[in-house]
Amino acid sequence: MRIDVITIFPDYLNPLREALLGKAIQRERIAVGVHDLRNWTHDVHRAVDDSPYGGGPGMVMKPDVWGEALDEICGDGTGQVPRLVVPTPAGRPFTQRTAVRWSQEPWLVFACGRYEGIDQRVITDAARRMPVEEVSIGDYVLVGGEVAALTMIEAVVRLLPGVLGNPASAEQDSFSDGLLEGPCYTRPEVWRDQPVPEVLRSGNHAAIARWRRDQSLERTWRRRPELIEALPEGTLDARDREV
Ligand code: SAM
Repeated sequence: MRIDVITIFPDYLNPLREALLGKAIQRERIAVGVHDLRNWTHDVHRAVDDSPYGGGPGMVMKPDVWGEALDEICGDGTGQVPRLVVPTPAGRPFTQRTAVRWSQEPWLVFACGRYEGIDQRVITDAARRMPVEEVSIGDYVLVGGEVAALTMIEAVVRLLPGVLGNPASAEQDSFSDGLLEGPCYTRPEVWRDQPVPEVLRSGNHAAIARWRRDQSLERTWRRRPELIEALPEGTLDARDREV
């Protein structure tokens, strides 16, 4: 998979080179390009923003600079087009389902906004040539799209084949079956007067699987009841419904 990020703070994306993502680059599972938006400015101040039409506080990112950057980065001459991701608190929610869907894509480009955001015509214009998604990572407002892009890239890249040491771990994670994952434990058996639940030490795999399912259901019900409501009909069996 190829991933490009356009930002006015390229150093913000340095964590892409660390840990699991860094290894994915080394192993050539992903190719990453980070681009400084100011390279597409033409004035001495290298301005990327201007005051908003209609008045109001803050500044808006200029369409001409973004337009040129996207033309160059997204039109690489191969005829292939990327999926353009525009992080914004006003976007549709980014979820694990989005991450799974994007993990099938060959090429993602992230356009990181700052200030009040990017002139809307940039998004409308890009959508004439490529699939575009405006997405939010949660109901709060960050100062820029870089952290949002990092969050989404990490969620997508860990799903690519050969990136996680044990691919089964992604299959058992929270949200894979629509529920939150239950608690997990490691050695020692007793720590600060707290023993590991007996069943996990029993070696009885069926009992362990049932216990984990119960914990997962209970935790989801307590913390995120709306996830249970959203499960497709028939997902819960009679035993699940007792929890
Ligand atoms: N005026 C915008 C609004 O109220 O919807 C907020 C702009 S925010 C201060 C600046 C940039 O941060 C956005 O263009 C976007 O790139 C990023 N951003 C902030 N919160 C975000 C969120 N929850 N999800 C994704 N991106 C976010």
